Amino acid sequence: MIQFATELARQAYKERQAKKKKVNREAIIKHIQKLRQSSKCSKCDTIGGLQFHHFESRGGNRKLTIRFAAFSGSWTKLQRELAKGEWLCHTCHVATHNEVTNNGNQGNDSK
Ligand SMILES: [Zn+2]
Repeated sequence: MIQFATELARQAYKERQAKKKKVNREAIIKHIQKLRQSSKCSKCDTIGGLQFHHFESRGGNRKLTIRFAAFSGSWTKLQRELAKGEWLCHTCHVATHNEVTNNGNQGNDSK
């Protein structure tokens, strides 16, 4: 715990931390936008207008999205999230989710 001489000093510290987080948050959002525009779709090499596909979304166990990582203002969390997915164009993203859904239904269908 940090000890503060005065209540004013404590307030000033809190404000500095909040400002830092806000600056980080804005930088992270800009970084994500840049990635979205400059990355290639992992499947068909389309550039721009990409969506982030989270590998874990198939299990519905998506604890932290990159949007949330951005909001947290933490670069560490963002890097951790980026490692858990890939950039896909809209077409491939939809196709990927359809594939996952179809695979999930396999075996349950008694024809
Ligand atoms: Zn694609």
